[in-house]
Amino acid sequence: MNDFLVSIVVPCYNEAENIPSLLKRIGAALQAYGYEIILVNDGSQDLTQSVIELAASENEKIKFLHFSRNFGHQAALKAGIDHAKGDCVVTIDADLQKPPEAIPGMIVHWQEGHDIVTAVCKNEGQPSVFKRLTSAAYYRLLSWLADHKMVRNGADFRLIDRKVADTIRDIQSQNLYLRGIFSWMGYKQAIVYYREEKRRAGKTKYNLPKMLNLASNGITSFSIKPLRLALGMGIFFAMLAFGYGLYAVTMVWLGKTVTGWASLVASVVFLSGVQLIVLGVIGEYVGKIYQELSQRPNYLIFKSNISPPVPRQGNK
Ligand code: UDP
Ligand code: MG
Repeated sequence: MNDFLVSIVVPCYNEAENIPSLLKRIGAALQAYGYEIILVNDGSQDLTQSVIELAASENEKIKFLHFSRNFGHQAALKAGIDHAKGDCVVTIDADLQKPPEAIPGMIVHWQEGHDIVTAVCKNEGQPSVFKRLTSAAYYRLLSWLADHKMVRNGADFRLIDRKVADTIRDIQSQNLYLRGIFSWMGYKQAIVYYREEKRRAGKTKYNLPKMLNLASNGITSFSIKPLRLALGMGIFFAMLAFGYGLYAVTMVWLGKTVTGWASLVASVVFLSGVQLIVLGVIGEYVGKIYQELSQRPNYLIFKSNISPPVPRQGNK
């Protein structure tokens, strides 16, 4: 047995059917290690809570946190990391799309001195064409906007060192986008590859609004380039309008009053559209500032078997 502890953090939202086989596979994969499993029940409405508690009563390595409601995947990851005691912390999904058998390989990289080991999906076979295309375009856009490279397909299957986990614990942001935070952090990073499997049971919990919210958080938490783009667009259209104004004045001088009702309406409508978009972008950032100022915790826990005192609840 090695003399370090590995914490496995699993966010679970309505995953009752998957949890037993997940635990079995983690147990088999990590036989050679000292480990704890932290199941974060993100306000599930199915039997997740009782399945978790039953498992925990049979195996002391299993810890759990029950949220008071659904706070989202990112909050669940943060809660697990906040409460993990391990020398390294691995985050993995509950649906067995990501194989626990890849964890020992990640541990090897960690032992070699890497602080963040991201597992990247090698086969893109499973997700729908729509998801694949939008995700490829999104990561490209995000890397460009954020000025640092985001690991594509690096979903939240990752190993982090204790010091990285401590940093995450200290981050107090309402708009968590952990993938971005990890690539922003630097440290010594490594990538391992795995083959993604089909979701074992249940269906994806990432509906379109949730995905869009995560995507928007990713962009606005790491970049103010959209504001610059808005500014650039403003300057461009102001110059265009100036030129058009000159043209209109010249026409009046020449006595050729312009009959351009259609062009007038078109340009007014177009420019109001542009203004609304720009306002929307600014509003998005103002909203984020407002949320950050509210200083609410990222999550609330109503029940847990992690030995008291619970270190910290979301934000201090
Ligand atoms: N999840 C969560 N809270 C949510 C949505 C998802 O804890 O609000 C968990 C879910 O139980 C799973 C992981 O996050 O363990 C990834 O979600 P899912 O498999 O639905 O996403 P996908 O693989 O389709 O991107
Ligand atoms: Mg999944």
